[in-house]
Amino acid sequence: MPAVFVPATSRPSSSAPERALADLLAAAVERPYALGHGDLARLVALEAPEERRALYEAAYRVKLRQTGPRVFLRGLLEIGNVCAKNCLYCGLRRDNPHPRRYQIPEDDIVRMARWAFDQRFGSVVLQSGEIESDAHTESIGRVVRRIRAFGGDSFAIVLSLGEQTEEVYRLWKEAGAARYLLRIETSRPALYARLHPADHRWSRRRDCLLTLKRLGYQLGTGVMIGLPGQTPDDLAADLEFFRDIDADMLGMGPFLPHSQTPLGTAVVDPRRQLELGLNMVAAARLYLHDRNLAATTVLQSLAPDGREQALRAGANVLMPNVTDRAYRRHYLLYENKPCTDEAADECRLCLLGRVASVGETIAWGDPGTPPHFATVSP
Ligand code: SAM
Ligand code: SF4
Repeated sequence: MPAVFVPATSRPSSSAPERALADLLAAAVERPYALGHGDLARLVALEAPEERRALYEAAYRVKLRQTGPRVFLRGLLEIGNVCAKNCLYCGLRRDNPHPRRYQIPEDDIVRMARWAFDQRFGSVVLQSGEIESDAHTESIGRVVRRIRAFGGDSFAIVLSLGEQTEEVYRLWKEAGAARYLLRIETSRPALYARLHPADHRWSRRRDCLLTLKRLGYQLGTGVMIGLPGQTPDDLAADLEFFRDIDADMLGMGPFLPHSQTPLGTAVVDPRRQLELGLNMVAAARLYLHDRNLAATTVLQSLAPDGREQALRAGANVLMPNVTDRAYRRHYLLYENKPCTDEAADECRLCLLGRVASVGETIAWGDPGTPPHFATVSP
């Protein structure tokens, strides 16, 4: 019998008397950081449909004030699935013998990035498993320089290539990368330790984030939601971590089991995973106000309109996959990943309809610099 890993939904105890939800939301709409730890945990755990609706509406008001009814596009390029790490939840982990490992040749990466640029996506994300080697560092440096040569300032290059040394991050920054996405996965070191082998260190990941910030990257981080053993209290701590690390961008998504991984027997309730994912998006918008927030693909695995629901709950970024179709089925972090069969241009049409369906427009050609970064950086 598999273990049931539905996160606890009980409210954490708080010594302060509980404020009415409407008052709480009004205060949060008014100004950032208005919510205490117990308030955040309470919002994340909301279950009643009318309470969740109030939460999403409040978050949407803040989003409209920050970036308007506009969605920024980041073309997602899954440039390789070779990974030296062994995260217990991820289908790309080193010890999974099943995926056919690939690394897209440099010319092809540049061609796909060029396609995203020509479509007037404002940015491109180069994402892969984690590789630390001189050859890899130099290859990424070359690719970044080539994309930068045609994209210039109006096409942001975002990297999501895992933990690296300061020297490597600096080199890629000098080559022209503006942003880096590195999820902390969970802000709780003890929970992190249960989800990773002993040689994977939470503190190294945290230090990488600090380094990236110091080097002047626009910093993206995030967590998985509904992890085995994770509680609303943990998720509230994640939101506080985003504040403390001074993140500019957030990418969060529900955890989904992959059968070829050690956590593959975890049982999750898809409906609740979606609710928790949306609650976290909304709580992040209400707490932090001015960060870019992605409506992640995993939400679409849980409901066909999962990403649109996230846009209505405060997200303002979509990351359409622009990787050639031939590679996509080999980049399965979790099972039932959507759009693995669609060509990039099909995705584009589908996106237009999806964004219009929530009454928003796409900010074509706009790199979508996070308001937070634009405000606090010199
Ligand atoms: N290797 C890089 C890293 O780990 O930072 C970037 C690629 S990694 C595949 C991107 C993200 O996928 C991870 O940060 C993790 O949050 C997410 N992920 C991996 N396995 C997942 C799963 N089973 N369910 C949901 N998200 C998952
Ligand atoms: Fe590798 Fe990233 Fe997957 Fe961990 S989450 S196994 S680092 S691809």
